[in-house]
Amino acid sequence: MKKTMRAFRMLKWQEPPALVEIDLPEPGPGEIRIKVAGNGVCQSDLHMPHLPAVMEQFLGWKMPFTLGHEVGGWIDKLGSGVVGHEEGQPVAIVSTRSCGHCLECDAGFDNACDWNKVGRGYGMNGGIADYLIVESDRPILKLDKLDPRRAGPLTDAGSTSFHGVRRVTDRLGPGRTAFVIGAGGLGSFAIQYLKILTTARIVVADVAPDKRARAIELGADEVVDGALENVAGELLKRTDGRGADAVLDFVGTTATIATSIASLAKLGRYALIGAGEGKLEAPLMGALSGKGASICSFVGGTAEDTRSAIELAEQGLLRNDVEFFDIADSAKAFEKLAAGQLAGRAVIVP
Ligand SMILES: [Zn+2]
Ligand SMILES: [Zn+2]
Repeated sequence: MKKTMRAFRMLKWQEPPALVEIDLPEPGPGEIRIKVAGNGVCQSDLHMPHLPAVMEQFLGWKMPFTLGHEVGGWIDKLGSGVVGHEEGQPVAIVSTRSCGHCLECDAGFDNACDWNKVGRGYGMNGGIADYLIVESDRPILKLDKLDPRRAGPLTDAGSTSFHGVRRVTDRLGPGRTAFVIGAGGLGSFAIQYLKILTTARIVVADVAPDKRARAIELGADEVVDGALENVAGELLKRTDGRGADAVLDFVGTTATIATSIASLAKLGRYALIGAGEGKLEAPLMGALSGKGASICSFVGGTAEDTRSAIELAEQGLLRNDVEFFDIADSAKAFEKLAAGQLAGRAVIVP
């Protein structure tokens, strides 16, 4: 076996990542080496070259590291002491790293575990490589019929989106309205989960006509042009002034935050998932006055959410559009994502 492998890595702070040849990693005690089948590319990967070097002290990230936190692959080699896993098994790796024994992990919110500050592809070696090392005592999900090349996006985009929907389903009984803002990677999954898990009416806003058309294909009942002057006004008009019982904001800009708050029905819930760095410009108490509404923020999905996303995909209930790129074209995949030129999730295949 070759003693080196290819990896698309951050080599220095504030510099673009590069494809380099590095030593093939050996699994230590309790570790597993995964042969990567495919790694999905996420918006958050695009931020990496812009992050300040202070991340090193601030979060404990170590440069250099390999990018990629949406991994599907096969178990390749077991380190000493690893039990319950077999070489050759197709798997998906839960994206968010967690310890398994803190308050949040115990409560089933392992996505909020402190260990998530350093993870595969953010501060430690990730999956845009031929191989990857993972800890064997944290969730590694076995795949059945699902192609491991397609599983990666389910571990982050699919899982985070499932988490978002799960946090609002109690607001979405029959006759209620779910308002999805942004029908990109995560939003597309959310529309499908809402359709599978609830009987609510699904209204989707997006600025792109092709994404609105796709939202209808995925199960949205109605779409709103996200470029309208008053998107919330349009939503209120379509709900006889009541508003949305749940708003899932996959954009998170100042404009969509304002739209989300103004669109909420009484006792509505606003799930802010998009990392658009928007600001809340109006007094929150005033905006929510008399509504009894709630707001939740997000840090990815849990292991359970990832299991659920994968199970739905295994059952053939989930459309998961991907566009494959050879690892040699990793930079091109990043460029196309940045330019908004992808129809599905970019998956980098070694
Ligand atoms: Zn991500
Ligand atoms: Zn924990």
